[in-house]
Formats: sequence, C-alpha cells, structure tokens
Amino acid sequence: MLSIVSMTLGPVMTNTFIVADDASGEAVVIDPADEGKRIAAEIADRDWRLVSIWLTHAHFDHLGGAGDLADSSTPPPPVALHPDDYQLWRMQGGAAFFGMKIDPGPEPTIDLTHNQLLHLGEHTFRVLHAPGHTQGHVMFHNQSQGLLFCGDVIFQGSIGRTDLPGGDYDTLIHSIHTQVMNLADETVLLCGHGPQSKVGVERLYNPFVR
Ligand SMILES: [Zn+2]
Ligand SMILES: [Zn+2]
Repeated sequence: MLSIVSMTLGPVMTNTFIVADDASGEAVVIDPADEGKRIAAEIADRDWRLVSIWLTHAHFDHLGGAGDLADSSTPPPPVALHPDDYQLWRMQGGAAFFGMKIDPGPEPTIDLTHNQLLHLGEHTFRVLHAPGHTQGHVMFHNQSQGLLFCGDVIFQGSIGRTDLPGGDYDTLIHSIHTQVMNLADETVLLCGHGPQSKVGVERLYNPFVR
C-alpha cells in the first residue's frame, strides 16, 4: 500500500506530501514547501527512507524546505524537476519577487519528461507535463490508486494563477482539459494549496473548467 502524509507549510500554506511505499519503507517528498527538518522528522518517526524529492514546479513556496530536508537526510536525495522550470529554480522560485529568500537545496539531477514513469517500491507514477502556471509544471499520477498530485494546476473550485512569469491562461486551461479532465471521475486531486478534491467534482463545479 501507499501511505500519504500531508503537511501544510510555509508563508502561503502550501501542501507538502510525503508518499511512502509501506512494503519497502521508501518515501518521496512531493514539494517540500518549508520546515525541511520537520518533514525529515515525520519520515524518521515512521522509519521510512527518503529516496527522492519530486517537485511539481519550481515556485519558492514548493521548495523552500528542500535545503533543510536534504541536509537532514543521508545520503541527500536526488531532486526531480522538469527542465522547463530550471531557470525558475535558479532564481529561487521567484522568492525575491515576494521579498523572501530560500535555500532551494540540491540542484535537480532528475529531468522529468512527459509520460515518464517514476517508481516508488512497486508503485508507479506517471509524469504529466501540464504547463500554464509555470512552463515546466508537472503532475504525478498513480493510476492504480487513482491519485493525482496536481500542484498548482487545479484547486478545489479554482485554478493556478497565471500572472507570474512563465504563466499563461490559455495554456493552463488546455493542460487541465487534456491532462486532468481526461482522467476518471473518482481520481483524487491532491492539490498544492487547499483541500483535496476529485476530478468528477471539479468537472461539475469548477467554474474555470465547466
Ligand atoms: Zn506555484
Ligand atoms: Zn503554490
């Protein structure tokens, strides 16, 4: 089975997800938003082993905890990011734009590509490139358990903002229609901000995608 621990962290209440394969104890952290030491403690408390950090995109509020998390882990885990967000990553995810400073952690070494398969124990996650909020935004889809870690693409009743550098409204709407709304209604959306939802619920009630 997969275990999921969610933590809401940082200045704009970003959701961090620790995802673990119970059989092997291997864990990944999706978007270590802040308080990397606390994330590491949650992993250690459960006797899990951090094998990788997966970033949905490179905004500062999704990786502000990566430095401390990596420093608390031996060996430091490799970081996965879509190359189209590398430039944003090098700018600390736009932190300066918001008057902040973060430690972005280890340089990403896993280049994510559309339809790439990532493995966690015996579980498989498909990388879905969904630009529009940022150019290199990806989502992580586990089809067998019906889970989509969708970052800042879509939220309960809303969508990601497109007014920041690299954002584009039409591109985002296209991504949502082709990469989210094509999934089964019962697919659970684990969003970068706010509560979780389901594809079928957003299909009915999200004013941006109806
Ligand atoms: Zn974002
Ligand atoms: Zn965000």
